[in-house]
Amino acid sequence: MLTPEDKQRYDRQIMIPGFGEAGQEKLKQAKIVIAGSGGLGSPSAIYLAAAGVGTLRIIDHDKVELSNLNRQVLHWDKDIGRSKVKSAAEKLTQLNGRIRVEAIAQTINDMNVAAMVAGFDVIIDALDNLPTRFLLNKAAIDHGIPFIHGAVYGLEGRAMTIIPGQSACLRCLYQGIPPQEKFPVLGTTPAVIGCIQATEAIKLITGIGVPLTNRLLIYDGFNMKFTELTVNRKKNCEHCGTKKGRQL
Ligand SMILES: [Zn+2]
Repeated sequence: MLTPEDKQRYDRQIMIPGFGEAGQEKLKQAKIVIAGSGGLGSPSAIYLAAAGVGTLRIIDHDKVELSNLNRQVLHWDKDIGRSKVKSAAEKLTQLNGRIRVEAIAQTINDMNVAAMVAGFDVIIDALDNLPTRFLLNKAAIDHGIPFIHGAVYGLEGRAMTIIPGQSACLRCLYQGIPPQEKFPVLGTTPAVIGCIQATEAIKLITGIGVPLTNRLLIYDGFNMKFTELTVNRKKNCEHCGTKKGRQL
């Protein structure tokens, strides 16, 4: 139940047509996993916390480094050397003391990924490498949990929402795995994409709007353009395909 304080705090979003107090109640009950507490994870976590999502689970094994601070806005000068998830949880609970933040300082691997996501309503992909994104994509499909992909490079970003059994998945989109290397990022790029991911999560939970499924949204900050690529679900996809008898 929403308290009088909740109704006041979230008044401006409750006013959105189709959202209402019922939508806010859904957010209050919602549990979202944010995989990664860096450039993408910071803005998505901040806006999901501000919107009143009841439980946020933040997963990241890294410690805060000086070179993170141009874009990872949950971490400040004073946090250098600290666990990113502890730094994130501290800020998020100061922003909104009425939500629950779980800080998990672990690396996601094929042994623990199921336990990391089980029982959650949405997974945000705020990672920086494709192998772990694929692990989460597969776990999301296996558990039937919507998965919101985001990625950045320089001034370019990408986002796509995956609804298991209904829309194309990350493996339908990408086949190979590029070598992992240090890459350029302007902080505003993950801010744009992380906010798109948070918006998608809020829409899915409250049931408003049209999700970003079967299309890859591409943000080009150099030319300040948004474009879309249609992504088709592959019948023989290793993760969501129907050829091995996987249920649609
Ligand atoms: Zn697929």
